[in-house]
Amino acid sequence: MIGNGSVVKEILKRFTKVYPGAKVGLDFVSPFELLVATILSAQCTDERVNIVTNKLFLKYRKPQDYLNVSQEELEEDIRTTGFFRNKARNIRGCCAELIERFNGQVPSSVEELTSLPGVGRKTANCVLSTCFNIAAITVDTHVIRVSNRLGLVQTEDAEKIEYALMDLVDKNSWNDLNHLFITHGRRTCIAKKPKCEECVVNDLCPSSLV
Ligand code: SF4
Repeated sequence: MIGNGSVVKEILKRFTKVYPGAKVGLDFVSPFELLVATILSAQCTDERVNIVTNKLFLKYRKPQDYLNVSQEELEEDIRTTGFFRNKARNIRGCCAELIERFNGQVPSSVEELTSLPGVGRKTANCVLSTCFNIAAITVDTHVIRVSNRLGLVQTEDAEKIEYALMDLVDKNSWNDLNHLFITHGRRTCIAKKPKCEECVVNDLCPSSLV
């Protein structure tokens, strides 16, 4: 790791200015909806997930609703998000556990969340930080890419990146970091061709192309 706390502080300060109001790209109105949307977002864009959940959340309002239909019917309803068989299995498994172990409610600890089928640290941290306002760093593909390009980490391992960023960044900025790095990765530090010439941290970035 070659970054340091003050550099990250400056990076976050600049990102806050250029990406005001950065927030989760998924549409939801409850922790349960965000949990389902996040499971659907694996290997899929937020835009596509939002198109699907726009209808899905009208039909399925609580965990039991996902168990009242067949696996095949749910697969059909989420087909366009890709990997629909696995996702349908995970969502139904998750709903069964929520009912059996958590009285139908989404739990609010990383241990409980990651004990649910199809819920990894990324999903758990996203739900914790967004719905429960608990400080957590969500490491998705954008955070992995941006953190590496900025020289803050030198690994593709999401869990190692999560802990490295937790060390580097003040706890009260963890939730902001999620939204800012993800927005920066989507709009500017794009996977195929980063727009370094218009990047506000290009003077601090070891990977800058300008
Ligand atoms: S300078 Fe380029 S590589 Fe570095 S963070 Fe900005 S867009 Fe990404």
